[in-house]
Amino acid sequence: MWGAGCDRYAVLIICDVDDLEFKTRRRAVRLLMGLLPTCWHECGLIRPADILLGLDTRSLYAAGCRVQDLKKIKTNSIIWPEGRRFAFSVFDDTDGTTMQNGPPVYEFLSDLGFRITKSVWPIQVKTGRPSMGGTTCADPAYAGWVNRLQEQGFEIGLHSVTDTTASREEWLAGLDKFYELFGHYPMIHANHTGCRDSIYWGDQRVSGVRRCAYNLLTKFRNRDFQGHLPGTVGYWGDLCARHIKYVRNFVYADINTLSECPYMPYHDPDRPFVRSWFASSEGPSVEAFNRTLSEINQERLEIEGGACIMYTHFANGFYENGKLNSRFVSLMHRLSSRPGWFVPVSTLLDYLEAYRGHRYVITTSERRRLERRWLMHKIRLGGTT
Ligand SMILES: [Zn+2]
Repeated sequence: MWGAGCDRYAVLIICDVDDLEFKTRRRAVRLLMGLLPTCWHECGLIRPADILLGLDTRSLYAAGCRVQDLKKIKTNSIIWPEGRRFAFSVFDDTDGTTMQNGPPVYEFLSDLGFRITKSVWPIQVKTGRPSMGGTTCADPAYAGWVNRLQEQGFEIGLHSVTDTTASREEWLAGLDKFYELFGHYPMIHANHTGCRDSIYWGDQRVSGVRRCAYNLLTKFRNRDFQGHLPGTVGYWGDLCARHIKYVRNFVYADINTLSECPYMPYHDPDRPFVRSWFASSEGPSVEAFNRTLSEINQERLEIEGGACIMYTHFANGFYENGKLNSRFVSLMHRLSSRPGWFVPVSTLLDYLEAYRGHRYVITTSERRRLERRWLMHKIRLGGTT
């Protein structure tokens, strides 16, 4: 029976095409997923992995499917290493992380085989009010724990040099401290909220008429970031260009980050101090993270052969009252059982760049598209920070 409440295996009995190559099967799955009612996807009746058993177009016609109903499923043509079907990583902004709430999350991820990117604040400064709170690497126990994470294969990235606005001198000291602690300079960075030394941040994230729209929407409050402005107190653009390879900018709702930003990692000639930018998928809190990583979204990421880089704060609700969030646990268990490539963000971005064979330089129209989609997403979400 075909319809709400039916058995999901109803879609599998049409024909058997076990001998088809994976690519052909994937095309068939795309076709089928486009034909099936959205409610089936949402209620979890459809498991594309099951559909991968195979269907062909003739059988779909025979079953009464109408091709005009086909919805376009976005696909990427990346072939992932080790025969993996998709890639997944996380950049964890360190806000609020302590020795109480951090280790349980990372032990869980490590046990499941995930190796992601944890960011740090290498130094603690006396001036300025922390915009969020959380432990810095000035705490020896915390620095020791982060170092052990690196030994296990986690990437350690930068989330600014400290938890508040830093001066150029503090940037110099912070980068040196990072080197001293981890044996190398950070390869990857994401700006921390409210820091005036953020690089190409606030209204500088967007260009042209979209900058005007952004300023109107934020009531002109998100201007005057200094990281890229030589001569200002917060200038560190030259250090960014010298030491850091990847910086995060746009965050989108779609689990398939690569489908939203197929150019990543990309260089933007209008923002020369950043070698390459990357995008991410929305998940700042445990609720948002779980929403993006829902079962059906995981299935779609796999079908599309995509790449997901989650933006999150693992200190924001993932571990509370002595236990991990149960929905998070179940979603990550499910994800870990799928044929994904679970590597740190820089490893994933390095692979994409090597796959392409060169550093991608984004065009004005491609950038316009990214900016427009990001602004629309932020407006829908109710914020533009
Ligand atoms: Zn932050």
